[in-house]
Amino acid sequence: MKLPIILGILAVILLLIYLRLRPFIRMARQMLGVARDVNRVMKQEPVTSSTQSGGTGDRLVRCNSCETWIPASRAIKLRSSNASYCSHVCLERAAEGSKRKAAG
Ligand SMILES: [Zn+2]
Repeated sequence: MKLPIILGILAVILLLIYLRLRPFIRMARQMLGVARDVNRVMKQEPVTSSTQSGGTGDRLVRCNSCETWIPASRAIKLRSSNASYCSHVCLERAAEGSKRKAAG
């Protein structure tokens, strides 16, 4: 019977193949891990609300203070009003302006 010999050779060949592929397997595992991380990050990222006409990043809004056009995703929005600002600086400036107006 030559079967045991054949099985032995097969085992050695499989072992050699495994040893050869081990770095690739590790690499593939790392890539899978990265993909999983990316998926997790994408899921964790909060979905911006109030998007009536799809495409959150492409929509442009104008800063109420300096009138610069900026992507809606980067704009600072006030919940009380529909005003949006490009930065906190503009937001503060607008707040100061309204205060001054109130004072007289
Ligand atoms: Zn601005």
